[in-house]
Amino acid sequence: MNNEKIAHIRHSLAHLLAAAVMELYPETLNTIGPAVDNGFYYDFDFSRPADSAISISDKELTTIEKKMRAIVKDWKSFEHKTVTADEARAIYKNNPYKLELIEEIIAKGELITLYTVGAGTKNAFTDLCRGGHSEHPDKDLTEAGWRLTRTAGAYWRGVATNKMLTRIYGFAFENKLALNDYDTMLSEAEKRDHKKLGRELDLFTFSDLVGSGLPLWTPRGTMMRNLLDAYVWELRGKHGYEKVEIPHITKKELYEKSGHWDKFKDELFKITTREGHLFAMKPMNCPHHTQIYARKKWSYRELPQRYANTTVCYRDEQSGELSGLSRVRAFAQDDAHVFCRPSQVKEELLRVWDIVHAFYGTFGFVLKLRLSLHDPLEPEKYLGDPARWLQTENILREIAKEKGADYFEGIGEAAFYGPKLDFMANDSLGRQWQVATIQLDMNMPERFELECTNEEGTSERIVMIHAAIMGSIERFFSILIEHYGGNFPLWLAPEQVVIIPVGAGDNADRHHKEAALLYEHLHGLGIRVRVDLSDAGFGKKIRTAKTSRAPYFVIIGDKDLEAGKITLESRDHGQVGQISKDELVARLLKETVEKK
Ligand SMILES: [Zn+2]
Ligand SMILES: [Zn+2]
Repeated sequence: MNNEKIAHIRHSLAHLLAAAVMELYPETLNTIGPAVDNGFYYDFDFSRPADSAISISDKELTTIEKKMRAIVKDWKSFEHKTVTADEARAIYKNNPYKLELIEEIIAKGELITLYTVGAGTKNAFTDLCRGGHSEHPDKDLTEAGWRLTRTAGAYWRGVATNKMLTRIYGFAFENKLALNDYDTMLSEAEKRDHKKLGRELDLFTFSDLVGSGLPLWTPRGTMMRNLLDAYVWELRGKHGYEKVEIPHITKKELYEKSGHWDKFKDELFKITTREGHLFAMKPMNCPHHTQIYARKKWSYRELPQRYANTTVCYRDEQSGELSGLSRVRAFAQDDAHVFCRPSQVKEELLRVWDIVHAFYGTFGFVLKLRLSLHDPLEPEKYLGDPARWLQTENILREIAKEKGADYFEGIGEAAFYGPKLDFMANDSLGRQWQVATIQLDMNMPERFELECTNEEGTSERIVMIHAAIMGSIERFFSILIEHYGGNFPLWLAPEQVVIIPVGAGDNADRHHKEAALLYEHLHGLGIRVRVDLSDAGFGKKIRTAKTSRAPYFVIIGDKDLEAGKITLESRDHGQVGQISKDELVARLLKETVEKK
């Protein structure tokens, strides 16, 4: 099914929802109801006492849904007619929401259209609408897989000073099977929720004393962050990046010059010194990095300069928007900036491209690419020469083509200072996340007058490339936890091997002694290993090892001692069997290096 057809079905279902609600609760004022990514919703002003205004019970939801399924049988087609401003005002004289919409349509000079569906039947329903409906609603909406899901409060037009309305949500997909698949995905996603797994796997925590949105990293979580960062660095090192370091605060003047003082004004954490100077915690690193470049005069021969820096940024997000690691107030960025000549842009972008693909490929993410371009119809929104824009955008397009990328063009998605390559990753549940972004920046070099001396001995403006790979490590970490469902690959697992001495019978001491020797051996090789020294029975030890999600368990029992070997079990593949210690080490090291 094409995107348009499912969008039409979802939109038509919003009409159906409104029709059912208006029939069951005739006092209600219906407002607006669009199609969304997984279905549809509609906002209503139920005429109920204020405190219960937004609560529609599950039982009522079931009744509404039943009514919808009954009504749709009479809905053969949508028909529309255009009405005059006065006609529209008269029809909706008792609905201030619709009146507001009508006045807006009039102000824009657009036609006012009413759509009626099920005309001539007792289930006829008319709504103010622009169109985009299913051609055969009775058939399409019966075949589609849909259901009402929940209600929520929603301010009229999303403005907090407006009245709180009741929003009713529904899921809708092309058929019942697709709805079922979506439900399965959601319940799997719930099991994998990174906030829940982060606690279970002891990776990070929050403290009321420290504050919300300020994650604290445990030893296990810190280990993983460092491994991820080291991997990015390993990939960057091959491309000539150098590490730099910066303080986490700056004078106001830096951000006035960069423009961030205005852009981030509400999100900046500000500090006044005892001498009355105003400082800010950095919300990003680019302005600081420009000042490392600006420390001296550069010859074109010395370019590009590539600075990489994993460092924490601070943004004062609103409490209501904070969520686990996805939205935080302090986050580490694996940030990098390339300072180069325009003629070097393509090569530099290709380098970042390789790093991005090597990195995300390691985790099995399938990347989709959006070329975020400027909108030529609105040149005033963008900084700099239009010819330069077309030229740099062509470079991005060339790269996407040369690399055979799965890409689409997003007109008007560019930043005001330059075009972008935005990568989207599909995770193991098929959900799409925006991940790495490579941005070309013609603005910051302008503002900070960053230049090099060219072949003619004259000054030449350079460009800057923003090239974070993970972006926010916190956010990437949350995606990774859910992608793997907590079952991290060997190279990344905070605990790689658990040794389980069987610990029963006459040989218990020998099992433990052998376990200690193996521990020393593996630990010495840099393998992250733990021995289960508890007094628990064998079965319990195995169960504990499994919940710890370590990729491998090594069992040492009588038969293993006799054979001078160990028994290996894999979290993902079950029993491996009895192997020698050398085989164990070879296997662990190989798998770690290969990052499988
Ligand atoms: Zn409509
Ligand atoms: Zn930057």
